[in-house]
Parts: sequence; C-alpha cells; structure tokens
Amino acid sequence: MSFSHLGLSEKVLAAVAATGYKTPTPIQDQAIPHVLARRDVLGIAQTGTGKTAAFVLPMLTMLETGRARARMPRTLILEPTRELAAQVEESFIKYGANHPKLNVALIIGGVSFDDQDAKLMRGVDVLIATPGRLLDHNERGRLLLSGVELLVIDEADRMLDMGFIPDIERICKLVPFTRQTLFFTATMPPEIRRITEQFLSNPVRVEVSKPATTVAATTQLLARSGRDGAEKRDTLRRLIRSAEGMKNAIIFCNRKRDVATLHRSLLRHGFSVQALHGDMDQSARTAALEQFRKNEVTLLVASDVAARGLDIPDVSHIYNFDVPIHADDYVHRIGRTGRAGRNGTAITIVAGSNDAKAVAAIEKLIGQPIPYMDKIAGTPAEPQQEPRQEPRQEPRHEPRHEPRHEPRQTARPPQRGRHENQRRPREPERRPQQPPPAPVARIEDARSRRAPQPARKPMDDGDASHLPAFLLRPVTVKA
Ligand code: AMP
Repeated sequence: MSFSHLGLSEKVLAAVAATGYKTPTPIQDQAIPHVLARRDVLGIAQTGTGKTAAFVLPMLTMLETGRARARMPRTLILEPTRELAAQVEESFIKYGANHPKLNVALIIGGVSFDDQDAKLMRGVDVLIATPGRLLDHNERGRLLLSGVELLVIDEADRMLDMGFIPDIERICKLVPFTRQTLFFTATMPPEIRRITEQFLSNPVRVEVSKPATTVAATTQLLARSGRDGAEKRDTLRRLIRSAEGMKNAIIFCNRKRDVATLHRSLLRHGFSVQALHGDMDQSARTAALEQFRKNEVTLLVASDVAARGLDIPDVSHIYNFDVPIHADDYVHRIGRTGRAGRNGTAITIVAGSNDAKAVAAIEKLIGQPIPYMDKIAGTPAEPQQEPRQEPRQEPRHEPRHEPRHEPRQTARPPQRGRHENQRRPREPERRPQQPPPAPVARIEDARSRRAPQPARKPMDDGDASHLPAFLLRPVTVKA
C-alpha cells in the first residue's frame, strides 16, 4: 500500500516521496483518511510508530486553503516538552517543503517572549506549543484561540505525568467547541479516558501495536550492581566499555540531579558525553541534542521528561542507570533504540530489591522476562574487574578530555513561573533510604569466584580504572 490512496494533496505526496518513505505506517494508514474527513481521532500509539506524520501530513493538506489572521492561529498542537515541540516543527519543515507560505510558530518556555509575539502577530497557520507558555501568551492578551480549527494533543499521558492536565482542560475550553481534535496517547489511564470523553466528539479510535511488540528488535538485558551511586557508575562504565557494536547510547536516570552527577562523572572518566534534563536552559538542551544527533558525542545522559518522544533514529544502546519508577517509562526509554527495523540493546542496571520489584512490574507490562546478562549464552562474559588502588594510594588523575567536554549548560534555579519540566508530581524528590553499599560493583555472575574487593569510597572521582593494569600493581618499597 502506498501513500497515494490516503487522500493527501499532490504537494504533500511529493514531499513524502522526497523523504524516501514509500509505505505509510499503520497509524498513518488508519488515521490520515479520518483526519482528512474532519473526524476527531483518538490515536493510541507511542513514538516510533510514525504518529507525527499521521497528523502533520493531513494538516498540511487541509491548510492549503484559507489564510491565517494576526494573533489567531488556525491550528494548535500541544506538546509536553520543548524538544517534542521542536521535533514537530522539524516535521512541518520536512513535509512542508512544498508549502513555502505556511507559517509555523513554536511557543515554548525558555526562549524570548518578544520573538514569539512577533510571529503570532504575523498570523500563524500552525502553532506548536507547550501548555504553560501558551497560556502565558493567552493571559497577556497576545494570543486568541478562538480561530483554532484543529487541535492536536500529543503525548497526552506524558502531559498527565507532568501535571499538565488542568492546563489542557483550560486550553480545550478556550478553543471553539466546533474544532476538530486529534488526541494521541501511548496509554489510557482513567484520567486520560476522562479527558477524551470530555473533549473528543465521537472519535475514531486508532490503536497501533502494543508497547511490548514495538520493542521486538531490541535485546533487553539486566545487569546487577551494588546500590551505591559510585558502584552503579562503575557498573555502567564497565557495561559501556564492554558493549558490542556500540555506536551511541542514551543513559536514563530517574532524577535530574542524578543526570548532572552522572554526566560529570562520565566526563571525568574521559567519555564523550552530553546531558539532557529539564533544569537546563533551552539553548543548552538544543545544543546537547544536536551534538548527540550529529554523533559529535557518543553518550547522552537524560531524564525521562527531557527525552520522552525524541526522534533520534539510530541509537544502538540504551542504559537504564536507574530502573524507571513507572513501568511504562521503561517501554518509552527502550523505544529509543531498535527503531525502524534496526537492532538495539537495552541494559537495565538492577541495584537491590526495590529495583528487582520494579523490574518485575516491567516484565509484567511487557509480558516477557528480561534475562540477566550472565544467563544469556553468547553474551560477553563479565568484564574483567578493573584493578583498583586503595583510596589513599589514588593519585588525582585529571580527566584527559575535561577541558574539551566542559558541559555547556547552566543549571537554572527553580523559577516560580510555569515551566514545563519543573513540575512532574510523580518524580520523586528524595532518594529512598538506602541500605549500606554492597562491597563490590559487579555485573552478576553466579559463578563468580572473585575474591571480595575492599569497600569503595563513596565518590568515584579518583577511579583509576582507565589506567593500564601495570601502573596499578602494588609495589614493594624497601626502607
Ligand atoms: P514518530 O513516531 O512520529 O516519532 O516517527 C518515528 C520515525 O519514523 C521518524 O524518524 C519518522 O521520520 C519515521 N517515519 C515516519 N513515517 C514513516 C514511514 N511511513 N516510513 C518510514 N519511516 C517513517
């Protein structure tokens, strides 16, 4: 089946052909004709299914007639994060190559109000926005939503996670009730169901492959570690160094501050790495993502909120530095690899019984067990435990690449205004009480015969694991 039977305009078909896509994905195939018929659509699909084009392509076709008026956008797309909003804008640029007069504006937090205001003034065909900044513009009287003909609510379940549902409800009441609504969510928790019942009118329901089946191309593994942060970082370094076919990797942490800590640690150990989390300012986030996309850095340490839905087509490895607290986050994280038929590897570090419980919930959700690395025939044997020095013997090794890898982003202090990534109620604020650290960070090997290692110091800054072994052998000094 080709794109030509879907009812898209010639200009749009030509742009799709130029991207090289020949066959619509199931969500495109099922949703596009209904969107063009002006039906409300409830799309249950996660990123990676081609859902962005499922609304961008028919919108481009529909917007070929009519004109935008100042401060009154014709269509509105709501996205939970700035990165997702920017990604949708890129889709309009890509598929709208033959629509040079189309005005697309991005209204996201972290960038100047004035530039956004100037764009709104010129008249906007497609407004892509995060909810908070959109409401700010509306409250200032700079934006009228009464001309919106089509509303897209994307990643609705993530909006719920981030506490945006009240904003979404307000926005839905500001746009005319006669509008067409396209609503996309990966899951249907009760709160999302309520919203769909309230704001969609007789929608066509389109559901594409369940999370567990979309990750079939990804090899999923578990690696056991001690619970201490330094031990987990040590485990992660071993995993990265022993990875097969590593092209690039995203490393997920549950908390923003752990993203920053892990990023600094990996830099100190000479890795090529960037960070992405909600407290970074917008330009730093964009720069980090661009560097990763262009393969200028190999690793990206990220929080769920920042990385959700990002389209990074060719990621070879995913590492869950922390087991995600919500099982569905696991599916989204590992959905970053194994995309478009490519193979990927996703390794989750399991540190203690709470992690094991969270893994059990994930296994239940995806309907399959995730094996430990050592139980897989043919997986690389446990990496050699790297030699260590006693803490007092450790020289302070300056990282080889530190000056070049100085992180660009500046941490922002919490602000009182509405900022998309700073209010995710479900994100834990405090670390749970941890039992004393296990003596050795290790990837599980039930047959391990290694002698117990001395307890490690809390921070791994002085870790000398990157040094050749001969430098680390004990030396007897004669008096
Ligand atoms: P999305 O689910 O919108 O994040 O899209 C995931 C990826 O699939 C993006 O890189 C798209 O460019 C790509 N894509 C979208 N539609 C198609 C298609 N019909 N054939 C192949 N790839 C596609």
